[in-house]
Amino acid sequence: MKIETSPSRVKAHEARMSGRPDCDVVVVGAGPYGLSAATYLKAKGLSVRIFGQPMEFWATKMPEGMLLRSPRVASTIADPQGAFTLEAYESASGTEAAAPVSLKTFVEYGKWFRHQLGSDLDTTEVAEVRRDNGSFAVTLEDGSSLKARRLVVATGIGPFRYKPEVFCGFPIEQVSHCYEGRSVREFAGQSVAVIGAGQSALESAALLHEAGAEVEIISRIADLRWIGMHTWLHHMGPISKALYAKHDVGPIGISRLVACPNLCSYIPIGLRDKIRKRAVRAAGSRWLPERLVNVKKTTGRSITQVRSIGERLELKLDDGSERRVDHVLLGTGYRVDIAKYDFLSRNLVSEIEQLDGYPKVGYGFRSSVPGLHFVGATAARSFGPLLYFVTGTEFTSKQLSSYISRHSSRS
Ligand SMILES: Cc1cc2nc3c(=O)[nH]c(=O)nc-3n(C[C@H](O)[C@H](O)[C@H](O)COP(=O)(O)OP(=O)(O)OC[C@H]3O[C@@H](n4cnc5c(N)ncnc54)[C@H](O)[C@@H]3O)c2cc1C
Repeated sequence: MKIETSPSRVKAHEARMSGRPDCDVVVVGAGPYGLSAATYLKAKGLSVRIFGQPMEFWATKMPEGMLLRSPRVASTIADPQGAFTLEAYESASGTEAAAPVSLKTFVEYGKWFRHQLGSDLDTTEVAEVRRDNGSFAVTLEDGSSLKARRLVVATGIGPFRYKPEVFCGFPIEQVSHCYEGRSVREFAGQSVAVIGAGQSALESAALLHEAGAEVEIISRIADLRWIGMHTWLHHMGPISKALYAKHDVGPIGISRLVACPNLCSYIPIGLRDKIRKRAVRAAGSRWLPERLVNVKKTTGRSITQVRSIGERLELKLDDGSERRVDHVLLGTGYRVDIAKYDFLSRNLVSEIEQLDGYPKVGYGFRSSVPGLHFVGATAARSFGPLLYFVTGTEFTSKQLSSYISRHSSRS
């Protein structure tokens, strides 16, 4: 009988046999929220393991050359001592402090931030999480497993990308989502229809145009919107401070409300949803209009039909006009639906109380399943839109770690 001895098989077998030590808290996902949460939990003296490739979503799913939409002060991943700020990274690495912050700098910053977690960070992906006698049984991609009394889901929005029905069923070479992170350079010399009017769509359109593609933006909204065009509103000292919180999420007034996630959580859900949607409605950053001057824009229109014509696509718009393009890039956003986290066992998903795909989370980011916590975008329905952004890590990690450490010591 032939015995399989390839290095990866041997590694997987060893991991299966040795397992991983059990711990108080497992954090799934090593993006800004997972990294921040793990540092706070560790500082509370809890045994923590965090799983996932650090900053994987930012490094591989965002368009090359992207700039952060969030201002510098709102682009720091929170840590308990405030020692691992973006500025601290820049001075430690000799990186020039630029505004807006580039994707490259932010990814490198996140990778630097992760060093404070040492061997508590394990780059192996989590394959499955089940409930097991009041704790969580976590199985990793390499086949090994461990148990934790609490589990923090910090796996971001990747699986929630939204493709409108009319674009489904086409291969990725013809229709892709901004999430797919394809290099804009591949599209040089090609015609690309970019669908959407949010930051992803508009910035991708600018990058494609600059890379030599022939681009048309097609959006349902009648007028493209731009954020922060009235810069003077941000330079009036104490008046600006009264109007806008430092996070800069949402327009005048709403910005201040959004900065208080605890307060948001008490607002009736109907009004809270309206505030959330208004704060993050589709719009592009103020540095984009100039870069899009020579890009064709068709607004107030939607696509009613898409057909393959050989290697090209024919798009029919609701005004009866048609386009033939090489590629469609969807900047059509994300819709939270935790059932799409396929590492959560189906039994576990069915036990989580939900609101249209969002888990219901209360104080301490706890879900209806004891010991199970959700952070980041999945908690935004409960705590408001600050949690869609990196700047929400401070509030989240403080509250999450205080809650878990208090309840762990009691039990
Ligand atoms: C185009 C675009 C631009 C954006 N610009 C900004 C901006 O300028 N400023 C801002 O604050 N926010 C911005 N955002 C929002 C941004 O996504 C969030 O702020 C941030 O990523 C949230 O961090 P997170 O840790 O919750 O999620 P993520 O950064 O997505 O991290 C989650 C991680 O979990 C990992 N993971 C998933 N499943 C598993 C598993 N089974 N096992 C282990 N690991 C797993 C993923 O690989 C991922 O790396 C932008 C989003 C997009 C799409």
